[in-house]
Amino acid sequence: MHESHQASGIPVTLPGGLVRLQELAHNLWWSWQPEARRLFEGIDPILWQLTHHNPVKLLQDVKPERLTGLNEDPVFIRRYSAVLKSYDDYMAASSTWFSSHSPQSPQTLIAYFSAEFGIHNSIPIYSGGLGILAGDYCKEASDLGIPLVALGFMYPQGYFHQRISPEGWQEAEYEPFNQVESPIDVASTPSGSPCLVRIEMPGRTVVAVVRQIRVGRVRLYLLDTNVTDNAPGDRELCGRLYGGDQEVRLRQEILLGIGGVRVLRALGLAPSVWHVNEGHSAFLILERLRELVQAGHSYAEAAAHVRQSTAFTTHTPVPAGHDVFPRDLMDPYFQGYWDQLGLTREAFLELGTHPDSPDAGFNMTALAMRMSGHVNGVSREHGRVSRGMWRSLWPGLPEEHVPIRSVTNGIHAPTWIAAEMNELYSKYLGPEWTEHVDDPAVWQRITDIPDGELWAVRQALKRKLMSHIRDRARAGWLQGTLHASQALASGTLLEPEALTIGFARRFATYKRASLIFSSLVRLQHLLHDPWRPLQIVFAGKAHPADEPGRLFIHQVYSFCKDHGLGGRLAFLEDYDMHTAKYLVQGVDVWLNTPRPPMEACGTSGQKAALNGVPHLSVLDGWWQEGYDGANGWAIPSAQNASDADAQDREDAEHLYRILEQDVIPLYYTRDRDGIPRGWLQIVKDAIRTTAPRFCARRMLKEYMELLYTDSTQRASPRQTS
Ligand SMILES: *Cc1c(COP(=O)(O)O)cnc(C)c1O
Repeated sequence: MHESHQASGIPVTLPGGLVRLQELAHNLWWSWQPEARRLFEGIDPILWQLTHHNPVKLLQDVKPERLTGLNEDPVFIRRYSAVLKSYDDYMAASSTWFSSHSPQSPQTLIAYFSAEFGIHNSIPIYSGGLGILAGDYCKEASDLGIPLVALGFMYPQGYFHQRISPEGWQEAEYEPFNQVESPIDVASTPSGSPCLVRIEMPGRTVVAVVRQIRVGRVRLYLLDTNVTDNAPGDRELCGRLYGGDQEVRLRQEILLGIGGVRVLRALGLAPSVWHVNEGHSAFLILERLRELVQAGHSYAEAAAHVRQSTAFTTHTPVPAGHDVFPRDLMDPYFQGYWDQLGLTREAFLELGTHPDSPDAGFNMTALAMRMSGHVNGVSREHGRVSRGMWRSLWPGLPEEHVPIRSVTNGIHAPTWIAAEMNELYSKYLGPEWTEHVDDPAVWQRITDIPDGELWAVRQALKRKLMSHIRDRARAGWLQGTLHASQALASGTLLEPEALTIGFARRFATYKRASLIFSSLVRLQHLLHDPWRPLQIVFAGKAHPADEPGRLFIHQVYSFCKDHGLGGRLAFLEDYDMHTAKYLVQGVDVWLNTPRPPMEACGTSGQKAALNGVPHLSVLDGWWQEGYDGANGWAIPSAQNASDADAQDREDAEHLYRILEQDVIPLYYTRDRDGIPRGWLQIVKDAIRTTAPRFCARRMLKEYMELLYTDSTQRASPRQTS
């Protein structure tokens, strides 16, 4: 017997032998299993492409005759049975890394709260790096057998799709979230009723229903207020990710933090560790304090318990990335609440006060830092910067003793690796390489891969990217969304043989997307070289309210449209996980030019390196600890430049020099067989040094050791009293 799926979607009728395809489609496990992906693709390769690799939609749209045919096709049935067997073995979880390393911790349950999760493109509940990290986190926790439940939001009003107008301006299009086409099910309480929670807001109670997504062995629960019991304004409360004004944002964070704790209680779950992934969910701390005080503990006892069982990860040194709510905005929402904590208004507001700016309001990061026993930044450098940024919360402590550690981010390798590279690694590193992805010894074998074979795969991946770019342009043309004047900018003239740089990231000003345009003459020279041409593919969104970011896109897009630059620049609209995969797998070099120290970690360069795409980056974020002199290129940023412009000029000079003297000559130096031996040496070094250190497996194990272990072993006041 297999669990039935209360899918909210349209019922799909599958022939008897294939009924479990539906179950496979409703567990995102398929998304990082090459065999499962191939199985769905094999059902209808064109439809697979048209649905952007969404098996739920594929099963809804595929012709019944096709399914009947497959049901009688012994080859398909054999593959289907093999995939089901690996799925069942995986889900049975008899021996995992966690079960063999922590057999003494049967009580361990980690609750991981995040405002966004990037699990797969078909579930549009993420905006960028933070969400994708959270998604990778869940997948790796699943792979390691770590008991973890995740909590987040549905964003029913939709996902922000980026369109670029013929004039080069970013336009935001919101596509309503079509749950029917997503692997989202209703979450039930232990008694079998649909799970819902209530959260008090001024003058009313808001109801949220709870949905769930299966991510391998991990469940992700999502709050959704779009139910008829709620007033229209409340129904739209979690409408959009990071949309709305400050008050909407406050309500969303109350829902996520306070509502989230109530969801877990309604589901009968008792987490031993509560992980606040970025400050958005920090109100969970207040709700847990309230529960303990209401159960009869003193505030001091409650605070001590909450502290020892809470972990907090801060993700950015950019000040605007930290939510601060004015006190008069807080008042109506928390009047009455502070009484339940046994606190006065002043003492309550004090919990979120940043000593450097006491009048600014209630700072979510300050709350989380104060009340979490374990705090970390997301790279060594970011840990250091964060200790400086938040040191006033620990008055009297020297900066180096401020208790903010670092756990450098990493990526879920099976999600980001190209199928073709995966095959190569399986052949030369061993079929179980993903199980040992964090073991440097495994990666020493990268030298066994013959250059010719590696080069052939790299070339194939680039051709795949180019054909994806052309397919998109053609589709846009047919649908009338691509104007004739945009054909050039969309990349139709790109050349698969030319050295191709990828630059894809959020268009925040500190990422300095236009640095490479500092000297047009010099850039033009590189682009126009008929023997050793360079081309660049850009992608990335700006927050719709970020005017400087939109202006950056406009600038870059104008260059991409410029005939004088020979069609060697392209801007891919609507950067998302789907596009990101083609880019990090298909280009030759990954470029990153943030203004240090603003890049907390960065993960796209890690994805690229895993696929044999070396990093050319300013020494910031993960690259500070990842660069070893031979595994890519570093721009030694001018930290002591007199001003930002001077810094830009110096950094651009370095960038051009590295391209002119190192990157381009090396790429085009070929042996008699046409193979760039020197280049492939860097490719191999990039893979060998990056893969084991910047993978999510290493990251999760570090979190388990640093943040979770001692808190899971400590008893809670409830159990001891
Ligand atoms: C990986 C990824 C990011 C984060 O990349 P950074 O290097 O942090 O900029 C953002 N968006 C998408 C779609 C990604 O895949």
